[in-house]
Order: sequence, then structure tokens, then C-alpha cells
Amino acid sequence: MGDLIYLDNNATTKPLDEVVAAMAPYLGCEYANPSSVHVFGQRVRHAVEVARETVAALVGGAGREIVFTGNGTEAINLAIRGVLGCRRECHHVVTSAVEHSAVKRLCERLAEEGYEIEEVGVDGEGRLDVGQVEAAIRDDTALVTLMHANNETGVMLDVEAVADVCAGRGVPLHVDAVQTVGKVAVDVSRFPVTLMSMSAHKFHGPKGVGALFVRRRTRLSPLVIGGRQEGGSRGGTENVAGIVGMAAAAKWAVENMDDVRPGVRSLRDRLEEGILSSCPSARVIGGDALRMDHTTNIGFEGVEAEAVLILLSGLGICASSGSACSSGSLEPSHVLAAMGVDPRIGHGAIRFSLSHLTTRAEIDAVVQVMPSVLSRLGSLNRG
Ligand code: PLP
Repeated sequence: MGDLIYLDNNATTKPLDEVVAAMAPYLGCEYANPSSVHVFGQRVRHAVEVARETVAALVGGAGREIVFTGNGTEAINLAIRGVLGCRRECHHVVTSAVEHSAVKRLCERLAEEGYEIEEVGVDGEGRLDVGQVEAAIRDDTALVTLMHANNETGVMLDVEAVADVCAGRGVPLHVDAVQTVGKVAVDVSRFPVTLMSMSAHKFHGPKGVGALFVRRRTRLSPLVIGGRQEGGSRGGTENVAGIVGMAAAAKWAVENMDDVRPGVRSLRDRLEEGILSSCPSARVIGGDALRMDHTTNIGFEGVEAEAVLILLSGLGICASSGSACSSGSLEPSHVLAAMGVDPRIGHGAIRFSLSHLTTRAEIDAVVQVMPSVLSRLGSLNRG
């Protein structure tokens, strides 16, 4: 990676050395099919089942409640379609206005298929009002699906309170915890969530593997139909190396998460303070809400985010934006639009996402270059 400063950890994270080491045998000599009955296959099956217990322990569940998938998106699709497939009499789905495209676009597809999708809005800081979710639930609500933390802003939604409401109304709740699992403590034994999606590459595991927590006795129809793998919930030979790598990342997270969080948070705060004090046009988006420690979304008035990102990239700094470029015009993301962020700020919104591998020297280097990047784009003194 050379001298790159990587502040795009919400897009993906660096696989840890211990993750790569744990996977290596399953990319080489331990190649048997875990469904084979012979001793070689059973040895690999054992590795998958140990991994299942480890991933379950990361979220406070039991091994039999974990279904491995190809990524977070597939886990989300399995959760949502899987529940709807078993509750055919109900055609109403409650979600939020700030979901990741994995949920948002699936809900759009469901609407085309005849489902009624009710989106609950957020306030100016990206916070969800649990009372509004409760008010949206009806007798024919099939499912409530909400994210735990927003990938663009890091703002956390109070899914624990929503889980209590859903349990009281007898409606299943799916939580997209792709951005939180492995980074903040998530414990399904402490709140009655029904299904929860996660993804290994967001917490220093490999790409190409995710998991869905499915609470015991939840009825779920499979998305991928084939063999009886994953208890019949997902056909297809397992990605054994990926699953073992996900477990290695989960083990690391269980052992280290609490220790690394304060350091990551203080670097994030240092980045925000440094940028706010040297760039008068900068505003932290969602800064007053409860946020994940490692994420900040900073809007710069009077610049286009893509232009900032290109200049940063030229300096070896990797960040990202929530904007989508369509037909030459930059639209602020649906997340910032739902928060009512002033488009002049939203167009110039940059997401910096850190990890425990981020250093103070890297943060100071970014703070140092921001004023000159903005002044090249003519924005420094606005705001
Ligand atoms: N949900 C959220 C909140 C995400 O941030 C992402 C990825 O950015 C996903 C779902 C999709 O996960 P994956 O990339 O593993 O499919």
C-alpha cells in the first residue's frame, strides 16, 4: 500500500495478518468439501462449525442461528425476502429513509412487486424517532428493516428500542448491522432483534463472505435454492476459506474492540477539530448524534466532493463521498437529502472513515493538506 493514507474503512477494511494466515490452509491443502462424509471433508466441516460458533459469539448468538452468505448484501436479501416468503398474507414493510442501497433498492423492487413500503424519516442529525416507527407499524406489517449505523455519516439508529416495539407488536425486525458488527458491541441476547446482517470485509475480514443472524424459531424461506447447506437456508458449497477468515476477524474483534475504540475515536475527533479550525466552510454532518467512533462526514461549502476526492487521491489520501454522479450533475446522497442537509454543503460532503490501523501522523497530514486542497477549489474562506 506504500504511503497511502487509507481513510475509507467504511467501504472496506484491510484484512488482518491473522485473518490471511487462518485462511491460507483452506485455499490450499484443506480443500475438501465440508459436505463430504469422509474424514477429510469432516475435518473441513469442523472448521466451518467452529467458525460459526466464533461469529455467533461476536454478536451474542448461538452457532445454529448463523447462516453464512456471500456478503452483507446477500444477508440482507435473505433476511428480507426470506421473511416475506413466509408471511405472504402481509404486504407492508417499514424501513427508514437513510438505508444502504442493499435495503433501499430491494425495497424499491418490492414496491414494484406490490408491497407497500413505508419509509420513516430522520431529523437533521440523522436520528430516527422510535415513536414514528411504532406509529408506522400496522396489523399487516410483514417486517421492519432498519440499519444499525449509517455508512455515510456513522449516525446510529436506536434499533434496540425499535426491537422492543416490534417484539411487543409481534413483527419481525431485521437490522442491517454491516457497519457496526466488529466495531461496536452488538449483543442479540440483550435485545429482541429477529434477524441481523453482517459482512466480514467491514471488520478486517475477507471479501466475499457475510452472515445472517436468524433468531431461533424464525421462519425463513431460502434465497439460493440448492443443496441442504446452511441448514437449508442457503444452498451451495460453502466459501470455507472466507468463513474461517471471517471467524478470525470476529475473534480479533471480540478480544480487541473495546481496547481500540477510544484511540480511534480520539483520532476521529482530532481530524474533525483540525479541519473545522482551519477550514471555515466545513461542517460536521450528524455531529450532534450518537455516532460510530471511526466515521466523520464533513461538508465543505462551495466545492464538489468528487473534486476534493480527486485532489486528495493525488496526494495519496483515500476518502469517499456520499454523492452519486449522474448525468454530469452531482446529487447529494439520499441520506443527506433525508437529513435536510443544505445542498451547498451536501455537494461537498466527504466521508473519512478510520480504523485502529490509522495513525496520528496520518490524521495530522490530512489536516495539514485540507486548507490548500480547498483553496485550490476556491472554497476555503466561505462559510
Ligand atoms: N449495509 C451497509 C450499511 C453497508 O455499509 C454495506 C456496504 O457498504 C452493505 C450493507 C453491503 O455490504 P456488502 O458490501 O458486504 O455487500
